[in-house]
Amino acid sequence: MNEDQIHVVIQSTLDRAVKTGQFETGQLEAELFVRVTCENCGNTFYLAELLDERSCSCQST
Ligand SMILES: [Zn+2]
Repeated sequence: MNEDQIHVVIQSTLDRAVKTGQFETGQLEAELFVRVTCENCGNTFYLAELLDERSCSCQST
C-alpha cells in the first residue's frame, strides 16, 4: 500500500466509526505523519519537516 491508499483506509475507518456511533465526535480528518530516517547519520524527521529543511546532519559537517 502506498501512502494515499493507507490514508483512504484510515479515513474510511474513521468515517464509518463516526457514522455508526462508535465515536461520538464530529467529522474526523485523518492525517498521516511519515517518519524518515537517514541511514548515514541517523537523523529522523517527519516527512513535512524534511521537505522544509531538505538536509540532515550529513550536510552540516
Ligand atoms: Zn544524514
